[in-house]
Amino acid sequence: MKNILVTGGAGYIGSHTVTELIDHGYSVVVADDLSTGSEAAIDSRAKFYKLDVTNQEAFSQIFEQESIDAVLHCAGKIIVSESMEKPLEYYDANVTGLKNVLEVLVKYKIDKIMFSSTASVYGNNCFDRKATEETPVAPVNPYAETKYAGERLIHWTASRFNMRYVIFRYFNVAGASLDSTNGLRVKNPTHIIPNANKTILGENHVLQIFGQDYDTKDGTCIRDYIHVLDLARAHVMGMDYLFEGQPSDLFNIGTEKGYSVTEIAQAVERVTKRKLNYIYVDRREGDPASVLADCSKVRSKLKWEPKYSLDDIILSDYNWRKNKNSI
Ligand code: UDP
Repeated sequence: MKNILVTGGAGYIGSHTVTELIDHGYSVVVADDLSTGSEAAIDSRAKFYKLDVTNQEAFSQIFEQESIDAVLHCAGKIIVSESMEKPLEYYDANVTGLKNVLEVLVKYKIDKIMFSSTASVYGNNCFDRKATEETPVAPVNPYAETKYAGERLIHWTASRFNMRYVIFRYFNVAGASLDSTNGLRVKNPTHIIPNANKTILGENHVLQIFGQDYDTKDGTCIRDYIHVLDLARAHVMGMDYLFEGQPSDLFNIGTEKGYSVTEIAQAVERVTKRKLNYIYVDRREGDPASVLADCSKVRSKLKWEPKYSLDDIILSDYNWRKNKNSI
């Protein structure tokens, strides 16, 4: 059985992916410092090391004790607004953290790595078209820039040390497990779907929609929303691809469907059959008008297709929040 080390495996995307990897026959070791992740999110079938990947000595211990075949590096900081406030922390976590991981991989001759990157590397460059992997990157905040730096760091390290990699640029990830036992555990989420559901459930008073004057069909921003379970399954297929000996590559992971923020608010009302209290306010700084994926490459090379709809995403997050609140 192949043994995968998942850094950040207690986080939202990491923990769903750990479960999916185990369900598909991989064994998994999780490394997470629990700074934003939660131990309760880690699948009980995985082995867990509580440590910070920027601490190279502690991180190396895993490779002394476990036989690791490949690494999925999800650990990192992911909040755009926070990255504007704390750029040094973002470079430290996302660039120095990855550099430490790569140094250890080189030392222990681990030759396969998957890396979580982001569609925000495209900045405003996919305004009037879907982003392909060839769309020029134009990061507009430290979060996106540190993720792009990570992509390049992996590329050059892999070329020099004979490693292979798969990098995913995630679009807007949302949703929860279908049995409502795992979902986004962040206390004060900044994302639209969790915020809309929190408002429906009475945890927030009103949903603020940021900006109604964008050059889009209804004036609100367009995004491409992907279910966390579809994303988790993509990681399994990416891992299979690496173990088949396929060449290094980078893929967009989205659904190629764009929804405006107003459409999200309306969909939340339709799916939950409840009235959502929402108002339009000023734009939020740094929001591109439209971010939409072209996923031809991942469809043809990994044979991956998203299975879940926007309604599935909204309903699973809603059920997860209801379930969490009733515990
Ligand atoms: N958004 C909003 N109200 C919220 C949260 C988000 O209007 O409470 C908007 C945001 O301005 C953007 C879209 O919803 O246009 C998606 O934002 P989110 O934070 O979910 O993801 P992002 O695309 O920023 O990664």
